[in-house]
Amino acid sequence: MEISDKIRLFNGVGSWKTYTAHGTVPQITMSDGPHGLRKQEVENYADLNKSNVATCFPTASCIASSWNRDSLKRLGSEIAREALAENVHLVLGCGMNINRSPLCGRNFEYFSEDPYLSGELAASYVNGMQKEGVGACIKHFACNNQEKRRQTSSSNVDERALREIYLRGFEIAVKKSQPVSIMCSYNKVNGVYAAHNRHLLTEILRNEWGFNGAVISDWGACIDAPKCLKAGMDLAMPDSNGYFDMQIKEALEKGELTEAELDTANNRLIEMAGKLTKMRENRLAPTPDKAIYPNLAEQYQKALELACDSAVLLKNDGMLPLSLEKNRELCVIGQLAVNMKFQAGGSSHITVSEYPDAVQLLQEDGFSVTYSAGYYSGFCKRKKVAKKNAPLQKKALELVRAAAEKNIPVLFFCGLTEAFEGEGFDRKDMELPPEQLELLESIMGITENVIIISFSGAPVDLLPVQKAKAVLHMYLCGEACGRALVDLLTGKVNPSGKLAETWPLKIEDTPCHGNFAPDHDEVDYDEGLLVGYRWYEERKLPVQYPFGYGLSYTSFEYSDLKVTAEKASLKVKNTGSRAGAEIVQLYVTRAGHSYKELRGFEKIFLKPGEEKLVEITLDDNAFKIFSEAKNCFVQIKGDYLIEVGASIKDIRLSTDVTVDGEELADNVIAKDEGSKSASSEIETVCSFANAKLQANAEQIDGNQKATAFAPFATFTISDSLGDMAASSWRIRMLIQILTLGLVILNKGKSREDPAIKIAVAALVENPLESLISTSGGAITYKFAKRIVKWANKGKL
Ligand code: BGC
Repeated sequence: MEISDKIRLFNGVGSWKTYTAHGTVPQITMSDGPHGLRKQEVENYADLNKSNVATCFPTASCIASSWNRDSLKRLGSEIAREALAENVHLVLGCGMNINRSPLCGRNFEYFSEDPYLSGELAASYVNGMQKEGVGACIKHFACNNQEKRRQTSSSNVDERALREIYLRGFEIAVKKSQPVSIMCSYNKVNGVYAAHNRHLLTEILRNEWGFNGAVISDWGACIDAPKCLKAGMDLAMPDSNGYFDMQIKEALEKGELTEAELDTANNRLIEMAGKLTKMRENRLAPTPDKAIYPNLAEQYQKALELACDSAVLLKNDGMLPLSLEKNRELCVIGQLAVNMKFQAGGSSHITVSEYPDAVQLLQEDGFSVTYSAGYYSGFCKRKKVAKKNAPLQKKALELVRAAAEKNIPVLFFCGLTEAFEGEGFDRKDMELPPEQLELLESIMGITENVIIISFSGAPVDLLPVQKAKAVLHMYLCGEACGRALVDLLTGKVNPSGKLAETWPLKIEDTPCHGNFAPDHDEVDYDEGLLVGYRWYEERKLPVQYPFGYGLSYTSFEYSDLKVTAEKASLKVKNTGSRAGAEIVQLYVTRAGHSYKELRGFEKIFLKPGEEKLVEITLDDNAFKIFSEAKNCFVQIKGDYLIEVGASIKDIRLSTDVTVDGEELADNVIAKDEGSKSASSEIETVCSFANAKLQANAEQIDGNQKATAFAPFATFTISDSLGDMAASSWRIRMLIQILTLGLVILNKGKSREDPAIKIAVAALVENPLESLISTSGGAITYKFAKRIVKWANKGKL
């Protein structure tokens, strides 16, 4: 291959395809993921929502509540079947970052706060997808736990927490499902961009875990192609229109990059392209008539089953299930009943067909329904909300009064609307929109006969709704949302989802409070290992709803627990009168340790009166910790408490087991005990200090590199327009002009629309260098240099 082709192969063509080197390498087409297919037929940088119609399945935080490996496998395979029909080889999913704070705008795309649960679910998704002949790309590797300044912030985390919490899920997925690719994240990890991070991309991912696929950049995450190549990245997306070629050529000429290094990346990409082409051919070969391609009506049914398997019943004072005999008449309040929130904005946004809403479906099932919107859930400036809402509230309360007189139940629909939650921005607090709370308070003043149906991709403060008789949380459960919630409310399906994350009482209680999404780029993960339930357990903090919690219309009895170091077995019996599913959770606590950790789970379906033997395998990591001194996981010798239960707070059976292994010094173990020992504190401080030194080195390097391209004093193309704006009126004006351009391109959309919010956040926060490949040609390298010149000229 000519050297120019080798160089070109490192960068994609347009937004979604790889280079073919004049037809010598099969071309690969990619599409987002993760809970449906976002196939963009026509390149559209300004509007993420322009994509072919596809099925929207439950989003990650929703389907994680199913705790059902089979459901995840089905999700992966159904998306793959749609990808096959759309000629897509590689789906950009699943997302599997750890939900470090409930406020991360993208938590709805991630599974859980727990690495074991995340890893198990991700592996099932990948296996389901790749079995159907389509590749998966697990993302975003790694520590991409906030949206704010996602392309410049550094997640500063000690090595032990990195390995046990933030990487462990990826490790499980890589080892159990061999994804063909992995997407490296935008952010820095300990001061070094994930895309430049050899420790992550080569030492850990390939050398330790044996990953043999290709590493792809997140879209715009590659800002220094030679550094990415050296770190172990194989494909930079999207097309930089020659910018990366220029960088690579220059680095080769200067001897900073070798041709062999380029060949290594090229070979991995060529191998992936070959593998994906073969996987697709093999899958389609027996069915040349394309009988394998799904039809959207059938897919809706599958989306429905997955949604029903996932929604979580949080409270039930006996009012559910509803029945035609008891509750023929219903009063439905809340615009989210017709304008249902079943997905969120950003690169995962699916264009769906039209489906009936909850009000239509309740009527279809024979209920007589009165409905009032009560509040406005569309996009509008917060200032205008009150004016829009006053007449809606008045009308809704009239309906509620009438319903209360006849003892008719009120179904109140609430949750985060699109403007509150999505890619590219984080939430400010855990509250529901104020207009919904205000209305709910008035409703509760009239009747307590209220059932809440709530939507959000992450925990919200549901304390104000606790007076209601029942609460069903749907998460963001995909296009079959309406049918799913009606089937669950009426008991056609018995709820069986359980929370894959803790719902804290208040944001001040969360482990990273004060260290989440700061206004600067140094995000210190001071909570270390104490993420999610580990923190609440260790600190004995009360919560709204604990990890693993969820109700059913039936009850289960646990008995006969037997445990060895390799597996546990127990019996579970359905003691109620309805069929239902139970999620059995197994937690392990090392003797003397201050909190338990999830190490196994199974979901089982039982008819009334039925009893089953449940076997839970303890994998070889169940009794291990990561030792920084030894730089590997080690099994710690000693006694362990094994607890089995229906949630972390509802332990039904327990026993002890003694495990063989190494005796590690107390000060090594102490790091995860919550009370950090002096020496471990020192180690942590050292690793942060090292990270910062490395970061500085990278910065200096970055400045030198920028100097090579453009000799300016203060700002470089590695800086963002937002940072430059503080000292230059020219840049502030430029931001305004470019924002206006975006608004014009997205004619008809509110500025509150996530499609615009993401684009504006990217424009302001991302390094200029990244915009060269993601602005669709609006910001070229030449223009970027000019912008830097303006920034450095005009102080103030
Ligand atoms: C997102 C990725 C996505 C990519 C392509 C990025 O902004 O972070 O998750 O796959 O865009 O749309």
